Amino acid sequence: MSDCLFCKIVAGEIPADIVYENDQLIAFKDINPKAPVHLLIVPRKHYPTLNDIPDEEMDIIAEIHKAVKVLAKKFGVAESGYRTLVNTNKEGGQVIYHVHYHLIGGRQLRA
Ligand code: 5GP
Ligand code: ZN
Repeated sequence: MSDCLFCKIVAGEIPADIVYENDQLIAFKDINPKAPVHLLIVPRKHYPTLNDIPDEEMDIIAEIHKAVKVLAKKFGVAESGYRTLVNTNKEGGQVIYHVHYHLIGGRQLRA
């Protein structure tokens, strides 16, 4: 999607602090972190929301969670704890319409 911010980051057209990447996804630091660790894990392929991932392509979700495990360890929050979340559509608080997982940690998060 030519007008999608995260597609531009995936394409290297907009800079980001990339912390992990493979052939299916990239992960980078959130520009407005809500905690000491705040990463975004983003499929390279453009899906506007979680609702738009076809059942036969849901393997990407497992890949994202594999990256979450690696990154939680790398950023030192695997044992202390962290949160993963996906905002979907307006009332879910989604702002960027390219599927992404937040990985947030490094402080006590409210329940
Ligand atoms: P959403 O509310 O869509 O789940 O979250 C979008 C996230 O993207 C927000 O946490 C916001 O801070 C982050 N974000 C927005 N624009 C940029 C950007 O240009 N670069 C980076 N690294 N993060 C961004
Ligand atoms: Zn996109």
